[in-house]
Amino acid sequence: MKDNILYIVIPCYNEEEMLPITYKALKSKMESLIKSKKISKESKVVFVNDGSKDKTWEIITNLHKKDKMINGINLSRNKGHQNALLAGLLTVKNECDIAISMDADLQDDINAIDKFIDEYKHGSEIVYGVRSSRKKDFWFKRVTAEGFYKFMKLMGVDIIFNHADYRLMSNRVLNDLAGFKEVNLFLRGIFPLIGYRNSIVEYERHERVAGKSKYPLKKMLSFAFEGITSFSIKPLSLVLNLGLIIMIISILVMIYCLIVKLLGYTVAGWTFITISIWFLGGLQMLALGIVGKYVGKIYSEVKARPRFIVQEYLNK
Ligand code: UDP
Ligand code: MG
Repeated sequence: MKDNILYIVIPCYNEEEMLPITYKALKSKMESLIKSKKISKESKVVFVNDGSKDKTWEIITNLHKKDKMINGINLSRNKGHQNALLAGLLTVKNECDIAISMDADLQDDINAIDKFIDEYKHGSEIVYGVRSSRKKDFWFKRVTAEGFYKFMKLMGVDIIFNHADYRLMSNRVLNDLAGFKEVNLFLRGIFPLIGYRNSIVEYERHERVAGKSKYPLKKMLSFAFEGITSFSIKPLSLVLNLGLIIMIISILVMIYCLIVKLLGYTVAGWTFITISIWFLGGLQMLALGIVGKYVGKIYSEVKARPRFIVQEYLNK
């Protein structure tokens, strides 16, 4: 395969209002890409139905019947956006040369696809779609969303700023993705780990055309928590460092208490209790931190991630 067969993979959960609009927009985009010979005629749009409760699957089935450019994958139940996307990508990984993942709501500007493909042709294996501005977002969404990326970085997770799940992946990257067996999925953390040559394409994020957002603040918080706990053991190191700091403070407290006692400013028992509280508190925190370090190692072992990915092997 090197015919530039493009598959656009779209997870859909209760998107009956959106699907006809999305289909129309993508259909004309695909046709113009085929016409300008940027992609193969065999390219497809793949809708993944993530256990929707409305007519989403019915619509996908009908689209597939009348248009051979449309493929459909039906999951047995709702598994969430990340799992639905992974299901789509891994199902098509041997059928396409290039895959692009995007949402069903057309918030990601489909005109960026041209630039994605240009970058791919210039040798990028992964192209990250990055929002150029969040002017159109409500200030609260903007502040929380940008805070999300900054906090993740602070917590030691390597992610691309303002990049969600709008990205191009080469066939090779899809096959490497299959090597990540983790159950707690946070896809945008995995791709930087895969590596290779990659690039960024900026695009303007639009408002949702129809239907409602399935990502309220509560889900976003749990998503951030998932991301940190799936990608970083920094919080465990923080506990260890805190333990060390409290131990140092407890020595200072000890000196202070003894001085106060020698000067005779204390009531009976105060010195002993105060020193004990600081010392035991610090000791416990330190012990927890050490246990945490081991837990952190178990966690990395259990994930059994690929230890390396070979980019080239010159042997002839
Ligand atoms: N989605 C999904 N499963 C879910 C929730 C959402 O497949 O359990 C899909 C949804 O249909 C959409 C994409 O994930 O295509 C992103 O969802 P949404 O647009 O609601 O999120 P937001 O853009 O508001 O963050
Ligand atoms: Mg959306």
